[in-house]
Amino acid sequence: MSARPLILQLDIAGNPCRWITYEDAAYYYAKDLVAWTPTEDGFTIHGGKSRMTGTTSFMDLATIIAVRGEVSDKGLYRTPTLTNRALFRRDQNVCAFCGEEYGHDHLTRDHVVAQSRGGKDVWTNVVTACGPCNRRKDDHNLHDIDMKLLYVPYAPSRSEYLLLMNRNVLADQMEFLTAKIPAYSHVHIDNLKEHVSKKK
Ligand SMILES: [Zn+2]
Repeated sequence: MSARPLILQLDIAGNPCRWITYEDAAYYYAKDLVAWTPTEDGFTIHGGKSRMTGTTSFMDLATIIAVRGEVSDKGLYRTPTLTNRALFRRDQNVCAFCGEEYGHDHLTRDHVVAQSRGGKDVWTNVVTACGPCNRRKDDHNLHDIDMKLLYVPYAPSRSEYLLLMNRNVLADQMEFLTAKIPAYSHVHIDNLKEHVSKKK
């Protein structure tokens, strides 16, 4: 795996699609498929030395590129897949009931309306919970057992999902994606733990 940062691929209309390696980006440049870029930021990659001229080839890559043609990713406009990894990141590892922050190993997926009561396994019905809070809640209704949610669950947009799933987002990529994320998102709350502690 390369240590270089990933490049954000957009479709021609500017919708964020996915993270690609710089090799993939170089391929799009070489095929003249990069239509435009919203950023000045980028870096240069160097290729081999030409035996004919003795010069080294290089290519300038932008950190965000809009690629012409095929948007083959069928998942592009669909709600991102719900996984524990993405869920815990959405909720900044903060338990929705006690408001404490934990490592992934101590966190669970809690269904606000329990599945045994017909609750669905979807973004808008799940929150991050620590083990003890999850066991305490069990399959009760919250109002029956005097527990309450410290934040409201929501489905992340594709932009937010891309942000959550890449640990090495560059400043301009961060700015581009964040601008597309709705105000209710946890992305706009710097420290969710601090934020919810005021609600307890
Ligand atoms: Zn808890």
